[in-house]
Amino acid sequence: MAYTKLNSEIIAKLKAILGPENVLTDEEKMQPYAHDEVPDPNYQRLPEAVGFAHTAQQVAAVVRLANEFHFPVVPRGTGTGLAVGAVATSGGLVLSLEKMNKILEINKEAMYAVVEPGVLTSVLQKTVEEQGLFYAGDPCSGDSCCIGGNIATNAGGNRAVKYGTTRHQVYAIEVVNPTGNIVNLGARLRKQSTGYCMDQLIMGSEGTLGIITKATLKLLPKPQYSMDLLAIYPDPTDAIATVGKIAMAGLVPTCIEYMDNVTIKSVEKYLDMELQGSANGNYLIIEIEGDDEDDLDEKAEAIGDICTEAGADDVLVAEHDRIWRARKVYSEAARAESVVIAKEDVVVPVEKEPLLFKKILDLAAKYQVVTRIAAHAGDGNIHLNVLKMAEDDYEEWEKKVGQLQRELYAVIYQLGGRLSGEHGIGYKRKHLMEEFTDPAELEMMRAIKKALDPNNILNPGKIFDV
Ligand SMILES: Cc1cc2nc3c(=O)[nH]c(=O)nc-3n(C[C@H](O)[C@H](O)[C@H](O)COP(=O)(O)OP(=O)(O)OC[C@H]3O[C@@H](n4cnc5c(N)ncnc54)[C@H](O)[C@@H]3O)c2cc1C
Repeated sequence: MAYTKLNSEIIAKLKAILGPENVLTDEEKMQPYAHDEVPDPNYQRLPEAVGFAHTAQQVAAVVRLANEFHFPVVPRGTGTGLAVGAVATSGGLVLSLEKMNKILEINKEAMYAVVEPGVLTSVLQKTVEEQGLFYAGDPCSGDSCCIGGNIATNAGGNRAVKYGTTRHQVYAIEVVNPTGNIVNLGARLRKQSTGYCMDQLIMGSEGTLGIITKATLKLLPKPQYSMDLLAIYPDPTDAIATVGKIAMAGLVPTCIEYMDNVTIKSVEKYLDMELQGSANGNYLIIEIEGDDEDDLDEKAEAIGDICTEAGADDVLVAEHDRIWRARKVYSEAARAESVVIAKEDVVVPVEKEPLLFKKILDLAAKYQVVTRIAAHAGDGNIHLNVLKMAEDDYEEWEKKVGQLQRELYAVIYQLGGRLSGEHGIGYKRKHLMEEFTDPAELEMMRAIKKALDPNNILNPGKIFDV
């Protein structure tokens, strides 16, 4: 059934719920909400209106209105997504949660925080650190993304090797369900076996099954001893092959990140800063934590030996802020080279990562494309960025990339991997989701969506079509 356009009657009702100053219909003002961080103009859609919620009650009232009049509601955090998830591709309302940005409680004794969804990830990290605590979620976009978006996409990031992804940091969530009820899912418990795990179902559902309006997050004591190692390899495949060797030695670093040589050079240019080993090196950045200085030194030595044996020319202790700035900015550096980038987020079991990596290098050579490769190597999650350069004809480039992707995805699934390790499916990858997912699994997902959202109101046309 076609959706109802946001006519003057609906806009008036939205203004009554959210306050007139919290509803935008002016095209120019809505422009920032027409896209996420996928820069390709083909994925941009101007919403019919943008609303800003301040309370869960407002969110619930908007969702009930959407069910009554039958219009789409697209929840949105800060729009740093890379899957066209927070864009109104079926029309309707973009409902921004960015103004619900209060840290409601930090409990030092029981080590948890209660936050609204619009709290920036880095703000939470810094606030709890000031109290000697630690929030382990750490996507590279932490300075600009928010907790609600992290939970909705099950964001990964740098520390997932040791601490898991966002879903592992969450005790409980308050959610507005697709029919407009406020429900509390999960609990602040170490264990429970009490019916379906509804909180985990909502996490990673990219705003299609519920709008997160509050979250209770796990905190840890702030690690006292940490060190960043930088292993520099002439051969990129040796770098990737090291990851499994570290795991097999029973060592669990906090992060193992990879950057290839052209990506390092791209970052150097972007930051106008010289990086170690950039002449021909490829990086593994390995962060370790220890109980004390001795423990840290022991781990550093053991990992250093493994890296050297695996082919690293040099293993150095890196300056934390500098090396992480370089790693976190790689995506912006690539964007400075080209606004049109096909960005892959493929993931395979860690021991299969060298096979995937080799395939990626082969495909890049076969199709003669310009690439920048970075990876959350410790998780088997490789970001292949294929850049359209000024001299490339757009249609030809698109065709080549399409062929490369088809070959790549076939291998991913043969290796037991998946299309997305952390960015999600959104609108951008839904045709691939439908093509590569086991039909029986897809049918279960569709059945859940239809049962929870009978009017197909919440973020329709994302992940898959119903
Ligand atoms: C430079 C850069 C680096 C990045 N690095 C990483 C990384 O290391 N790891 C990683 O995982 N991702 C990374 N990302 C992707 C992105 O930052 C994450 O997906 C992030 O979790 C999105 O948060 P957001 O608040 O911007 O969400 P948005 O982009 O606003 O939304 C993302 C999805 O979540 C839904 N959503 C948002 N808020 C809510 C809510 N409250 N309730 C229900 N649904 C909601 C939206 O509908 C949409 O489907 C990176 C992006 C950039 C640009």
